[in-house]
Amino acid sequence: MKIRSPWSRNLAELSSATVAEAVRGGTLIWPLGSIEQHGPHLPLAVDTVIPEALAQQLAFELDGYRLPVQPIGARSLPQSGGGPAFPGTLHLRGDTLIRYLTETLESLCHLPFHRLILLNGHFENEALIFEAVDDVRQRGLLDGREAIAFSWWSLVTDAWLNEEVAGFPGWHAEHAGVTETSLMLFLRPDLVSPERPEHHNPPLAGIYLHPADPTVTTNQGVLSSTVGASQELGERLFWHVISGATALVRQGPGMRRPAAAEPAAAAEPGGAAESPTATEPDGGAESGGGADLRAVPKLPAATP
Ligand SMILES: [Zn+2]
Repeated sequence: MKIRSPWSRNLAELSSATVAEAVRGGTLIWPLGSIEQHGPHLPLAVDTVIPEALAQQLAFELDGYRLPVQPIGARSLPQSGGGPAFPGTLHLRGDTLIRYLTETLESLCHLPFHRLILLNGHFENEALIFEAVDDVRQRGLLDGREAIAFSWWSLVTDAWLNEEVAGFPGWHAEHAGVTETSLMLFLRPDLVSPERPEHHNPPLAGIYLHPADPTVTTNQGVLSSTVGASQELGERLFWHVISGATALVRQGPGMRRPAAAEPAAAAEPGGAAESPTATEPDGGAESGGGADLRAVPKLPAATP
């Protein structure tokens, strides 16, 4: 199949007549987010814009396809997302979200892909995504395939944070902070307004409070600091995460990988032999696909 444009890596743009062959033996990426308050300066769509852009780029890097982003996620909590006190925050109950993810994965597994990547952009989603994918795994639907699920911030190294983000408060409190603001300035600057709230008393991780006072746990929905956010930082962070994600997928640390599981791949110890073309779904040379997109400084996030 010939790639027509960067955006044709969207699975939903394929036809039913072509989808099975397009994804056969290849990689599918499903970005998962939420619609959630992100302070006065960022749109509700932060947690969908970021994973969708990452998934889009990763689809190129791995010669795979991505699904449209899942826009509704787990409930926002006061200590990690500001909570539902702020207008516009939507959520599904955890049991509903697990069931939604599980049932969607069940039908997705009818396609003959080899590797599934679930790429999360909303803090409270993570454990529920792991639960859903493990449920599908337990029922045998992932037999003979690989599944990798992660939140994008899990791939940010301590070394990168020490170098780039002063006084990092922990990912639970980074909500609407320096990293998300910077990524949005890189991906969708048109959606970022000039306010830069600071909250000098970020909430502690792993604690639930009732009744929580959002005027104490946040500053206008920001849990830590936005100071230092920039488009340049967002660009460096975006490529840092892409680099970490491609390394994670290609090396699969901790993953059992029988040589037979990699079609047409010359497996070598350490997984170093697995190039993106090892799982090329159609055998076509997509030379320069990733490089082309790398040359584009701003990635349209295609938020509906
Ligand atoms: Zn967020």
